Amino acid sequence: MQILSVLIEYNVSTLNRPFSYTYEGDVVVKKGTRVLVPFNNRKIIGYVIDASYVDKTKEELRNESAFELKDIIKVVDDEPIFNDELESLAKKVADYYLSPLISVYQTMLPPSLKPKKSALSKPKIQYDDYLVPLTDNEDDLTPKQLELFRLIKDNSPVLKSSLKTTVLPKLIEKKKVEIVKKEKVRLVQEKVEKTEKKNLSDEQKRALYSILDEDYKTYLLQGVTGSGKTEVYLQAAEDFIERGKSVLVLVPEISLTVQMVRRFKSRFDNIAILHSELTPAEKYDEYRRISRGEVNVVVGARSAIFAPIKNLGLIIIDEEHVETYKQESQPYYNAFKVAEFRQEYHNCKIVLGSATPSLETETRALKGLYKHLYLTKRINAGPLPETRIVNMSNYKNIDEKSTILSLDLREQIQDRLNKKEQVMLLINRRGFAPFIQCSKCHMTFRCPTCSIALSYHQRDNMLKCHHCGYVANMPKKCPKCENTKFYKIGFGSEKVEANVKELFPSAKVLRLDSDTTQIRNKTSEILTAFEKHEADILIGTQMIAKGHDFKDVTLVGVVLADLGLNIPSYRSAERTFNLITQAVGRAGRDLKPGLAIIQTYEPNNYVIYDASKQDYQRFFNQEMPYRKAGQYPPYRYLTLIKISSSDEDVVIDGADYLKNYLVAKFASLDVDVLGPSEPFLTQINGKFYRKIMIKYKKYSTVKPILEDLIQISNKRKNLSIQIDVDPYEDY
Ligand code: ADP
Ligand code: ZN
Repeated sequence: MQILSVLIEYNVSTLNRPFSYTYEGDVVVKKGTRVLVPFNNRKIIGYVIDASYVDKTKEELRNESAFELKDIIKVVDDEPIFNDELESLAKKVADYYLSPLISVYQTMLPPSLKPKKSALSKPKIQYDDYLVPLTDNEDDLTPKQLELFRLIKDNSPVLKSSLKTTVLPKLIEKKKVEIVKKEKVRLVQEKVEKTEKKNLSDEQKRALYSILDEDYKTYLLQGVTGSGKTEVYLQAAEDFIERGKSVLVLVPEISLTVQMVRRFKSRFDNIAILHSELTPAEKYDEYRRISRGEVNVVVGARSAIFAPIKNLGLIIIDEEHVETYKQESQPYYNAFKVAEFRQEYHNCKIVLGSATPSLETETRALKGLYKHLYLTKRINAGPLPETRIVNMSNYKNIDEKSTILSLDLREQIQDRLNKKEQVMLLINRRGFAPFIQCSKCHMTFRCPTCSIALSYHQRDNMLKCHHCGYVANMPKKCPKCENTKFYKIGFGSEKVEANVKELFPSAKVLRLDSDTTQIRNKTSEILTAFEKHEADILIGTQMIAKGHDFKDVTLVGVVLADLGLNIPSYRSAERTFNLITQAVGRAGRDLKPGLAIIQTYEPNNYVIYDASKQDYQRFFNQEMPYRKAGQYPPYRYLTLIKISSSDEDVVIDGADYLKNYLVAKFASLDVDVLGPSEPFLTQINGKFYRKIMIKYKKYSTVKPILEDLIQISNKRKNLSIQIDVDPYEDY
């Protein structure tokens, strides 16, 4: 008989320990495989971390121990789902991020291999389900259902697997939509023509040779957009492959980096793209191709850092400053940290690329911990775009036709339309208006869970909470005074779009934000259409600012640069600087000169000024003193402790208790304990939240105490904590 030590699929710290089961069948159950087990009268998936034979019967075992071990129900895998490296990588990640091991496994694996019950039913089918509306009638729907119904009506037929929703079954049950089956289309693999490698500039050569021949572990390749970083990645990758090594390339988000992917495909044959738009079956196929060693280049977003690629020689992290490399849920890992763990194993090199490195990375490079490489010139010798700051509080810059687009920006847009050139407008807020107010009693609509103002969305005529996803149909009457007139205050991307269409009726306009891309694949569709010049103006949130290379774009307008500066996070200046710099860099990427117009109510703010000049060094020098004064990274490290409970008193008492515990433990150490305080959202889905922040110089001094803290909080009733090590934000 075999005794199996099993981690179960629930990913909470109280169950973060192995459970023992028996197995009497003929299969040899291997360590690292999944089994179906009974647990509290349910059937769930377990992950075998240890398997051993005992020469005993169940009878004998029962007599020996106080309780009876249960039999597993079924063996799921024949072979381990991880290799040894990934197995030990998972342990390192779980250990560093103080997260249940199982939560790391769930993150590392593609849907059909996850140690989760739902994985067993993941499709390996050969047809696709599409959704079509059956009626126009909107009666009898909850707001969530209504939101989805309108989305399907607007986009029918919609590929079912492209939707991220849980309310679909209700829509089907209520006979609002139906499923039609169509034969499966394999993801259309875009044909990419092969390209030759370019003759490198002197700066590029210096960077490449350093990466190939010099003896550093980690490099920072710093260069403005268009300075030829990608070409250096490609040639470095080629060299490593010739030496028989493989290469892993991380990009912030696949659908926003279509061109980068295309360029890798144009140079390499044995390449896997880990794409968020792949179906579970396709993800599984790609994953198996990688583990069988059929590819030597993998390109993907954050979780691709866990790809089962062997023999790693080089890891490239493009746009290293982007926040998407940090996962905002358990296990809260940062792909760069995981890259460093893989580096320990493979002894591979890491190249970080950015025009605007995070202040932490820049500091380490300046200190010499990373080799600092610069690309200072744009390759096509096109100059950086000219920039102008427009003060929107000066009434001379606007008129009654529009308070959103200044006269200057409008004139320039018209000029580009005349010349058949393209325009991008950045507005980092979605929806039509961020507030709705009753014109009579001045009541504003607020989210019942987070009490944040609800935004009005015009396309589906609904009110939405941008934090928790709450939606409500736009009421016809004020719930307080029955008045029927409302003011829509402020503006977001939908309103900018409406305004642009009004001012430039003959222009073709596209919009890209997370509303227009609720359906998978939409992002790349919109970007490709714009790239093919099927539209003149692209309006969007920060999604449009990232890594695209549109040749005909000669004008970029930042509609309201101040958005983001007032977010209560130590990172808001850096984030805003990056966003504006990136956006400005989109103008004039080819030989035609570019212009960027930055509209703001704070024309003298250093963040906006430095971004307009694309002056990273100046920004770095101005921002670092603030970081120092607040003892924020890179001066100290942070860990955020999130405490929650369904009972508000429990969370308040618990947070105080844990804070006192930490203060006592850290008394003689150089650690600051801040809080407990109310986070940005104090209440989500019926749970109450508090946070404690600690700031320290050495993680190794605080880690054991945090481990104890988890044990202590597990013992308190109805209280849970989550620990976010090195959080990206501090709220
Ligand atoms: P980045 O990644 O820094 O934005 P890219 O590598 O995309 O820069 O380079 C910008 C443009 O210049 C691309 O169109 C690229 O093909 C081209 N390019 C890069 N290096 C060279 C080179 N050495 N000679 C000619 N063209 C180059
Ligand atoms: Zn809400």
